[in-house]
Amino acid sequence: MREILKGISRRDFIKCSASMAALLGLSELYIPQIAAALEKAAKKPAVLWLNGSGCTGCTVSLINSEHPTPAEIILDILSIRYMETIMAASGHVAEKQFEDIVHEGGYVFVMEGAIPTAENGAYCMIGGRPVMEIAKEAAANSVYNVAVGSCACYGGIPAADPNPTGCKGLKDVVGGTVVNIPGCPAHPDWIVGTITHILLFGEVPELDEHGRPKMFYGKLIHENCQRRTGYELGNWVKNFGEEETEMDYCMGGKGCRGPVTHADCPSRLWNSGTNYCIAASAPCAGCVEPDFPDFKDADGKIISLYAPIPEVAKYKEALEAEVEHEEGMGAGTAAALGAVVGAAAGVAGGYAIGGKTKSEEKEGEE
Ligand code: SF4
Ligand code: SF4
Repeated sequence: MREILKGISRRDFIKCSASMAALLGLSELYIPQIAAALEKAAKKPAVLWLNGSGCTGCTVSLINSEHPTPAEIILDILSIRYMETIMAASGHVAEKQFEDIVHEGGYVFVMEGAIPTAENGAYCMIGGRPVMEIAKEAAANSVYNVAVGSCACYGGIPAADPNPTGCKGLKDVVGGTVVNIPGCPAHPDWIVGTITHILLFGEVPELDEHGRPKMFYGKLIHENCQRRTGYELGNWVKNFGEEETEMDYCMGGKGCRGPVTHADCPSRLWNSGTNYCIAASAPCAGCVEPDFPDFKDADGKIISLYAPIPEVAKYKEALEAEVEHEEGMGAGTAAALGAVVGAAAGVAGGYAIGGKTKSEEKEGEE
C-alpha cells in the first residue's frame, strides 16, 4: 500500500478519495470503493496520453487541478505512463515506452489535440511518423478511448474553416466508442472525474449525442447563468468595458453562446472554483460544442465571435419590439413579465461569486 501511494499518507489518500466522490456527485458511502479503484489503478490500467495538433492547454488545465493535486493525479491516481509534455523520457526511450504500453494493452488512451489527415497526416509527426497512424495504433489496443479538449473531440480550432491540414477529432479517425471531454481547454474536474468514473465503475459514464458525459455536460450554460435576469429583462451589455459589463447585464448581444452550450461552468467554476467566462465579463464562446469555433447561421455563414447568435438575436429583437409597444400602452409591463419569467427559472439577481452580488455592491456605493 505504502509503495502504491508513493509516500502520501493514508489520511491524505482517503481525503483525495472523498474529493473524488464529491466531484462525481456520489455519496460518502462510495469513498472505500473509490479508494480501492484508485489503488488498483496505480498498477493498471495505465493511461497513455498522446498530443496532436493543439496548444497543450488541456495538459495545463489538468495540472491546474487542486483536489486532487497534479502530483496525486500523475503519480497515484491516473497511472499516467506516457505523456509527452511531462514525461522525463525523450527520443528513442520515449518511443520504446510507447511501444511497450501498446504491446501490453489494457490502458486508457487519451488523445489531446486534433489529428491532421490531409497529405497522409504529414502536418503532425511524432518520431517521424504521422500522429494519425500513431493514434490508430494506440486506439487498437486500448480498453477505453478518451478525447480531451475540443480539438481532440471535434477538430476544434485546428479544424476551423478552411482547415487546410484536414484536422479531425479522434472518433472520426479511429471510430468506435470515444468518450469526448470537450472544452477549450477542458476543465480538470471533467478530465479527472471522467477517467475516475471509468476506473471505478469499469464502464464509460452516460454520454449525450455528442459523446460527452452527461454528468458534466447535461445542462445549458444559460439555465444557470447569473446574468439570466438581465436576459429576461432585456438589460444588454452594449460595449465591453462599460459599467454594465461588471453587473448582471446579459452578454447575449455581444455574442454569448450560453443559450446553445452545454456545460456546468456556472456552478462548477474554473481555477479552483474562482470564476468563469461570463462572470469574468466575457461572453461564453461555446467552447464545448461540436461546431466551435465556426458557429454558422441558417445560410451556412460563420457567425463572428462577438455577433449575437440567431436564437438570441431573434429574442432580443422581439423583446425590444414588445418594449416599444408597451411604452405606448404604459411602461414596465414587459419588464415585469421578464422579472416573473426570471424568478420562475430560479435565477439569482446578480453575481454571488466571492460574497456580495455585483448589484448589491452597486447599491452599497449609491
Ligand atoms: S445569453 Fe449568455 S450572458 Fe445572457 S443569460 Fe444567457 S448565458 Fe448568460
Ligand atoms: S463558459 Fe462557455 S466558453 Fe467558457 S469555458 Fe464554459 S463552455 Fe467554454
